[in-house]
Amino acid sequence: MTQLVAESAHRQAVAALRESYDAIPPGAPVRLAKRTSNLFRFREPSTAPGLDVSGFDQVLGVDPEGRTADVQGMTTYEDLVDATLPYGLMPKVVPQLKTITLGGAVTGLGIESSSFRAGLPHESVVELEIMTGDGGIVTASRDGEHKDLFYGFPNSYGTLGYALRLRIELAPVRPYVRLRHLRFDSAESCAQAIKEIGESGSHDGTQVDFLDGTVFGRTELYLTIGTFADTAPYLSDYTGEQIYYRSVQQRSVDFLTIRDYLWRWDTDWFWCSRPFGVQHPLVRRLWPDAAKRSDVYRRLVALDKRWQASARIDRWRGKPTREDVIQDVEVPVDRLPEFLDFFNDEIGMSPVWLCPLVAQDGWPLYPLEQGRLYVNAGFWGTVPLPPGQIPEHHNRLIERKITALDGHKSLYSTAFYSRDEFWRLYDGNTYQRLKERYDRGGRLLDLYEKCVRGR
Ligand SMILES: Cc1cc2nc3c(=O)[nH]c(=O)nc-3n(C[C@H](O)[C@H](O)[C@H](O)COP(=O)(O)OP(=O)(O)OC[C@H]3O[C@@H](n4cnc5c(N)ncnc54)[C@H](O)[C@@H]3O)c2cc1C
Repeated sequence: MTQLVAESAHRQAVAALRESYDAIPPGAPVRLAKRTSNLFRFREPSTAPGLDVSGFDQVLGVDPEGRTADVQGMTTYEDLVDATLPYGLMPKVVPQLKTITLGGAVTGLGIESSSFRAGLPHESVVELEIMTGDGGIVTASRDGEHKDLFYGFPNSYGTLGYALRLRIELAPVRPYVRLRHLRFDSAESCAQAIKEIGESGSHDGTQVDFLDGTVFGRTELYLTIGTFADTAPYLSDYTGEQIYYRSVQQRSVDFLTIRDYLWRWDTDWFWCSRPFGVQHPLVRRLWPDAAKRSDVYRRLVALDKRWQASARIDRWRGKPTREDVIQDVEVPVDRLPEFLDFFNDEIGMSPVWLCPLVAQDGWPLYPLEQGRLYVNAGFWGTVPLPPGQIPEHHNRLIERKITALDGHKSLYSTAFYSRDEFWRLYDGNTYQRLKERYDRGGRLLDLYEKCVRGR
């Protein structure tokens, strides 16, 4: 292991965190004080001091032979990738937004275009050091004393404990990625192609290293196939003037460096930079490249939510109230056409991001069927509310449809399930057992309270 940060620095950070944890009076809420977040639940800023976790944002070491890295829990993927690429390695799954942290992606479920072969980020975790709700420091792995916590940690959203250090597996990379954007004119043909590529790991005799998709409408769907390459005849750049998601419609072949490939969606937050005007040529030229980043847009959205600026402007202009429909859901690949039909009829928002995935193991709090091919659909925007409808009208329709299709919904955004339904979907029995073992005093929030009640 090439040690990048001294082991003693991590030990000191753990000791300092334990002290600040002990200083929080019993009964007071325990929260993380983090600089960035990619959650889409906005709550009133808390007046209680949060746990200072700024000492947990480093890559501790990389082992190029064993292909693993030791990483602190609040390290961003941007820093993590910068530490591993010089060794010709990457985390097996790198979520698209630069400030997503390793701990956040493991406890809150990340996904990316390598997920059809590598699963979700938590599946390449070897070992987790966790500060549990009752203040204990434990090491959890696939076997051993804290096996239950290892498997129960994904989708627990910091309600069982905080990951302080993780050992993760890495995968070798090559310098470039060749992209092919394949167009489909129906959801059925697109789902069929996902199935074939998922099963064979190849397309047209070429190995597929990455696979995701973009839906622009009922008859305009694309799958983007990424294949590692040692050379590139040219390189595109989507970090400045050009916009990546538009290139999906405009070109059939493209080349990016591996680094640019990993961050291709961050520059425009997929397509969500649109409401800020950043896709208008003039604004784009004036908007500094360094500020074309998902965390900048997210901060702007947080400000807008806080001051209700766009809602006020809409009211003033006599426009209908709009509902945020910002979700990622997973459906079995065979049910994808049915979901997209429903989505077009009832929600009518585009584009939609598609990302196939296979769970390689069983993770009780997010019980995808092991070995089954699912497709994640991500959609992030607002739609007008029909007159007289409840404010969460479309979100509730989506929740019902996902359950009917034998799918699952991520919990990083809003959720509206009843308590009973929620615990049926996210394995309440296992969760309660873990809560009793690792947060007996109930210092951390309960998952339902956090994700549905927005506490
Ligand atoms: C518009 C949008 C698009 C998204 N798209 C994608 C996507 O394409 N791919 C993808 O992978 N994800 C996506 N996400 C979801 C994102 O990965 C999750 O929200 C993830 O949990 C965020 O991680 P974070 O590091 O920013 O954590 P935060 O937002 O800071 O926290 C997330 C939750 O995890 C807890 N937490 C944070 N760190 C730790 C830790 N070390 N230990 C235990 N608990 C912790 C926090 O308490 C909190 O409940 C998207 C989110 C949004 C809003």
